[in-house]
Amino acid sequence: MEKIKRNILLNPGPATTTDTVKYAQVVPDICPREKEFADIMKDIRAELVKIVHGDPDKYTSVLFCGSGTINIDVLMNSLVPEGKKVLVINNGAYSSRAVEVLQYYHIPYIDLKFKYDIRPDLELVEKTLQENPDIAVVHTTHNETGTGILNPIREIGALVHQYNAVFTVDTTSTYAMLPIDMDRDNLDFVMASSQKGLMAMTGLSFVVGNKEIIERTKDYPTRSYYCNLYLQYDFFNRTGEMHFTPPVQTIYSVKQAIEEYWTEGEQGKYDRHIRVWEAIHKGKDELGLKDIIKKEWQSGMVVSIKYPNDPNWDFEKIHDYCYERGFTIYPGKISTTDTFRLCSLGAIDVPDIEAFFRVLLEAMEYYGVQIPAKY
Ligand SMILES: *Cc1c(COP(=O)(O)O)cnc(C)c1O
Repeated sequence: MEKIKRNILLNPGPATTTDTVKYAQVVPDICPREKEFADIMKDIRAELVKIVHGDPDKYTSVLFCGSGTINIDVLMNSLVPEGKKVLVINNGAYSSRAVEVLQYYHIPYIDLKFKYDIRPDLELVEKTLQENPDIAVVHTTHNETGTGILNPIREIGALVHQYNAVFTVDTTSTYAMLPIDMDRDNLDFVMASSQKGLMAMTGLSFVVGNKEIIERTKDYPTRSYYCNLYLQYDFFNRTGEMHFTPPVQTIYSVKQAIEEYWTEGEQGKYDRHIRVWEAIHKGKDELGLKDIIKKEWQSGMVVSIKYPNDPNWDFEKIHDYCYERGFTIYPGKISTTDTFRLCSLGAIDVPDIEAFFRVLLEAMEYYGVQIPAKY
C-alpha cells in the first residue's frame, strides 16, 4: 500500500484520515442493491447506535446521502406535527442554520438567542417551555463548531422531557469524539456525518434516534420527499437498503473507520483529541494569541482565535503559507469578531500540532506580524 501525502487539516472537518480508511474505498465494483452491500449497511447502522450507547431495542440509525446539514433538514421537517412548533436554543452558527431550515419549510419556531460566547440560560429555556405548550421539538447544538463552545445538553434534555417535548441535538462535531450516551444525556435524536468524528470520507450522514418517536411521525405532515425521516426509516426496515443510491465507496470507508474507532476506543480517542486541543492552547499561548471562549466552556474540539490587532496580519497570506506546507487553518464563523479556528478533529496527534506551530511562527515572522501577538 503506497503512502498518500499526509495533510494536517485543522479545519472543522473533513478531518485528516488514515491511509487504511482512504484505501478501504478501493473495492471491486458492486451494485448497492446486492445483499452483500445491504449487510454492510446493517452492521454500520448497528455500530452507529452503539457508539452513543443506545439500546438497540429503543434506538435506531437512519442513513442519508449528503453532507451533515441534511440531518438538520431531515429532523426539522419530519418531527413536527401540524400546529406545533420548534424551540431552537441558539448560541451560534449551526443552531442558526436549523432556524433557516425551519424558515424554508415555513414551520413555526421560537429562536431563543444567546450571545455566541455564553452558555444558554436554563431558566429562560424553562420559562419558554412553560409559556409555550405547543412546542413539540427542542433543538440545539452540542459543540457550536463556529466558536467551540460546548452546550449543557444533559441539563437541557432533562427540561425538555419534563415538558414532554422531543429533544434533537446537532452532535456533528462531537459524535465519536466526546463520549455521548443517549439515555444518560437525555437525548432523543443525535446526528453526525462520516467525515468528522468518524474520520472517514465525506458523503454519508446519519441520525440516531428513538424508534417509537419515528413511528409516531408516520402520519405527520410530509414537507420533503428526499429528506423525509419516516420514508427512509421505513424503507430500511422493509428492504435493508437506502431509498436511493447510497454513497457506496464512502460506506466502505466508514466500515473501516468504525473498526479503527473501536481499536482506539471511546476513551482513548477522547483523550487524544483533548491532548491535541491542549497542544493547540500551548502553541497559541506561546505566540501570545488570544481565544474567545472561556476555556472551561470549550468543547476540546475547536479553538477559536481572535485576529491580532496588527496591520501585517493577513489571514489569507498566513493560510496560504501554512497550506503550502501541508497545514490547513480555517476562518471563524462569528459576524461580530474576526477569528480563525484550529480544530483537534481527525487522525492527528501532538507532534502534528507542534510541527504546525513551527510553521505558523515562521509565517508570522515572514510577514512581519509582531510576536507575541498584539491586541
Ligand atoms: C460540520 C457541521 C455540520 C454539517 O455541515 P456540512 O457542511 O453540511 O457537512 C452541522 N453541524 C455542525 C455542528 C457541524 O460542525
